[in-house]
Amino acid sequence: MRLVFIGPPGAGKGTQCKRLVELLKIPHLSTGEMLRAVKRQDTALSRWVASYIDAGKLAPDHLVMRIVAQKLQSEECVNGALFDGFPRTIIQAQLLDDYLSEQGLKLDLALELRVVEEELIQRLLKRAQIDGRADDNYETIRERLNVFKTQTAPLTEYYAAQGKLERVDGMQSEELVFEAIKASVSRH
Ligand code: AMP
Repeated sequence: MRLVFIGPPGAGKGTQCKRLVELLKIPHLSTGEMLRAVKRQDTALSRWVASYIDAGKLAPDHLVMRIVAQKLQSEECVNGALFDGFPRTIIQAQLLDDYLSEQGLKLDLALELRVVEEELIQRLLKRAQIDGRADDNYETIRERLNVFKTQTAPLTEYYAAQGKLERVDGMQSEELVFEAIKASVSRH
């Protein structure tokens, strides 16, 4: 199964993705993690990638697609994958669709995790204290939420038009969110 997980920063995607990959036995492809791994190197590319992450802006679509495509070619992804934080723009969604159809594959499902904005800010500020992620400061959080609203949220319409969208209420407890996700997955 191939599925895309859409949700604003702080919606609990990471936590739910971990549970879902265990259940479905597919690899978890987080582009945020992949880009942070690039950022940790000391190269011209890593400094370029860092300039986007640190400002809370999206890295260029084709760069992200190239990194994802490399992963998808690996043996572990033959039976599917869970895309976390990707696609983030309509262009990335089209690039992914094109890439998969070239391989004779398709996406099965897009899950949208919905959480109200005030709650997201509280959760992200709390995570900043615990994890010390450099992009979890107030200014960057606001920018990332704004980027989500303007560039990523329209993806839900894109996948709804394909009949692949399932919406999940992310304001419930972790357990109930996971139950709702499992129910959505079982419908596809
Ligand atoms: P995340 O861990 O998913 O919240 O991503 C952290 C940061 O990595 C984002 O704020 C972006 O700067 C960058 N990033 C992650 N995924 C993508 C993507 N699909 N397209 C562009 N930039 C991304």
